[in-house]
Amino acid sequence: PDTVDITALHGWIREFARLIADHKDLLTELDAAIGDADHGINMHRGMSAVVTTLESESPGRPSEIFKRTGMTLVSTVGGASGPLYGTAFLRMSAIAGDAESLDGTDLAKLLRAALDGVAQRGKASVGDKTMLDALSPAVEALESAIEDGQPLAVALGAAVRAAEEGRAATIPMVARKGRASYLGERSAGHQDPGATSVTFLLAAAATSLS
Ligand code: ADP
Ligand code: MG
Ligand code: MG
Repeated sequence: PDTVDITALHGWIREFARLIADHKDLLTELDAAIGDADHGINMHRGMSAVVTTLESESPGRPSEIFKRTGMTLVSTVGGASGPLYGTAFLRMSAIAGDAESLDGTDLAKLLRAALDGVAQRGKASVGDKTMLDALSPAVEALESAIEDGQPLAVALGAAVRAAEEGRAATIPMVARKGRASYLGERSAGHQDPGATSVTFLLAAAATSLS
């Protein structure tokens, strides 16, 4: 079976940081339309700090990588996305326990816990025009592909496509959570910034973990 080792997990976080850096302006422009124009800046500040932390501490267990990532995001990102992504990574850390590597089933469980954590922390549901609208279908696609016995590469490919569809589905939605909800009906017609950044998290997983 597929094994995700510690090197692959470091690669995942680094690749996510790289995608955020490359798309910082896109994320900020999306947030300018329905928020306060800082999502790219927030995520870039946070993920740059995460890369620095992981380079200096080089955590050797999955739970430690996710813990340091989550804690660094919480302490460096001021906006809503800091505590939400922070919660996601801290939940993954808790589920990883003392495992030294992960398989596809483990990864699906970690991402399910991340999703539940974000939903609880943000008191949001699918359809509220948030990062959940991309993360939730991605986790469902990952779970069903793994349950069907698909290789991790195929399962993560399905998760990325589901995230991309969920991201696109946020465009017509009216926001019910976060700053975009202050706009009411005027939030419709714009893609959610957080649904966009979380799709990069899945894309980074597909490139780095399989
Ligand atoms: P802020 O809104 O504080 O400036 P960011 O711009 O960094 O923070 O992040 C905005 C993104 O956070 C939104 O696009 C949305 O996806 C996500 N978000 C905001 N509030 C919530 C919530 N309550 N639950 C889930 N996601 C949320
Ligand atoms: Mg913002
Ligand atoms: Mg802000």
